[in-house]
This record gives sequence, C-alpha cells and structure tokens, in this order.
Amino acid sequence: MLSYRHGFHAGNHADVLKHFVLVQLLQYLNQKDTAYTYIDTHAGAGLYALDSGYATKNAEFETGIGPLWEKKDLPPALADYMALVKELNPSGKMRYYPGSPYCASKIMREQDRLRLFELHPSEIKVLSENFRKMDAHAAEQGHRPAVRGKRIIISDADGFESLKALLPPPSRRGIVLIDPPFEVKDDYRRVRVALEDAVKRFSTGTYAIWYPVLQRPESRQLPEKLKRIDCKDWLNVTLSISGPSPDGFGLHSSGMFILNPPWTLAATLKEVMPYLVATLGRDKGAHFELETGIPVSSGGSRPLR
Ligand code: SAM
Repeated sequence: MLSYRHGFHAGNHADVLKHFVLVQLLQYLNQKDTAYTYIDTHAGAGLYALDSGYATKNAEFETGIGPLWEKKDLPPALADYMALVKELNPSGKMRYYPGSPYCASKIMREQDRLRLFELHPSEIKVLSENFRKMDAHAAEQGHRPAVRGKRIIISDADGFESLKALLPPPSRRGIVLIDPPFEVKDDYRRVRVALEDAVKRFSTGTYAIWYPVLQRPESRQLPEKLKRIDCKDWLNVTLSISGPSPDGFGLHSSGMFILNPPWTLAATLKEVMPYLVATLGRDKGAHFELETGIPVSSGGSRPLR
C-alpha cells in the first residue's frame, strides 16, 4: 500500500527531531576522513515545498520548523540543522523544507556514498528530479555535481529488502536511516527484522529509526523490542509537543531510536531537547524523554536516565 505522501507532513515536529538528529550523526562521522556510506531505506521526495501543494493542506510545518524559523537563540547543534534549512531558502522566506536525502547530501563529503531507496513511483521521480536540479545548480556554480558518478544511487526498490546487500559497507563505516510511513502494522515488524539482520552483517554501524509514538500496541512495543537487539549500545529520544488528544487523533509525539549512537549524542540532546519542548510545546503535556543503555540481551543493564 503506497498511499503515504510525506509532503503532507514536511517540516513538522517529527521531521525536526529526525533531521536534527540525522545531522548530528553525519557530522560525527565527518570527524574522520575515511569515507562512509549513508543508506536511507525510505527516502521520500528529498525536498518539499511549504508554500504550495501537499504541505499547505494541514500546514504541519507550523508545529515544527515554523516556530524555529525566526529564533536567534538556537542551541549550537540545532543551529547547524537550521543553517541547512536556511541555505535552501536564500530569499529568507520559508518556502522549502529538506528531506533526509537532501540533509545527508549537504552534510556528507565527496568521498562518501548515499544509497537511497523509495518505492512510491511519483516520489522517486520527484526525488531523482530534485537531485538532477541540485546537480545542474552545482555545475552552474562551478562545483562538482553530486549525482553523476558513484556518489548517489537512487533505487526504486524495497528499502528493507535492499539493506542486506549493502552491509557491511566497503569502508566499514556507515549509517542507516529507517523511516517508514508506519501506516501498516507490518512496518513495525519489518523494522525489527531488518535491524536484527543488519547488525549481524555490520555490527558497528549506526542505525537510526524514526517511529511515531501512538497508543497502538505495535508503536508502544517497538522501542522495547529494539532494546533487545544485539549491539554495543542504544539511545532512545522522544519529543511530545502536547499531551495525548482525547480523540486520539493526530501525531503529537515521535521518537528516534539509535543503535550504536555516537558517545556525544546524549549530551547534545540534553542541551537541545528542553529548547525544542519550550519552543514547539503546545500545552503542559509537552515533554521529552531520553534514555540510553546497552541491549537487554547483553546483560540487561538498566538504562541511564
Ligand atoms: N525519510 C524521508 C525524510 O525524512 O525526508 C521521509 C520518508 S517517508 C516517512 C516514507 C517513504 O517511504 C514514503 O515516501 C514511502 O513512499 C516510502 N516507502 C514505503 N514503503 C517503502 C519500502 N518498503 N521501501 C522503500 N520506500 C518505501
């Protein structure tokens, strides 16, 4: 079932959390010269208009990037992510929002590799076209194009299935973003199964999973199941912009679960998450949760809170 279009949700609070954390993960890998591979199993369209089309329908960006746009006191780590969004909007007006492939392509270096998977026939066309335009722009500016050559490969294949063949990456350095729509229950199972397999092939990789925090049991159980996956350590962060609505509708809360996070990430989140709660919070139910630990299966240490 491929009815989901990320454009409706572009730039909302969940995107802010996901893309801010993604930028942190990539910047950490940039600290060493050795090339790495970024795998985006559910890439989406790469770039979204905020002033026309799907995004204007519910204006979800008003719960996310909107309130951050004019802020002058952003914590440094959040400012890095914001700089990337602003670079995409040179007029100063908030018109475009970067998806995960765009964020990654901007942070990554020439020696690094992007492998992007997208199954929706329209989204993959837009994704390819967006990178073609970025290439043309880069060439105009006298920069080396991003897509031509081996740096970026975009595939219309199932991201869960395709992961196997890419692990471990040639340099044994890499990060995988898994960001399914979760519109079907099976996505929760597939995330877990894909990760269990992935860590067997590439145990030192960093894996980032975005997930919605909902009342449904699959959503509540997902982080607990991911904590059991056999790897060195994990981090789980959630952002709720309000308490649960009485009717149970709407997405108010989401999480990023990271397997093998950089050791610096927890400290960065401790600094940034209170700021996000204060800026994006809608009511007294707004809050964040941050926990870190080693997998339950490797001795069952309790998470540090
Ligand atoms: N990662 C993107 C970002 O942050 O900008 C957003 C991705 S969106 C949440 C999920 C995307 O996954 C949709 O565009 C959908 O068409 C695509 N999709 C759904 N199932 C897929 C699968 N099995 N393999 C690859 N793409 C899939």
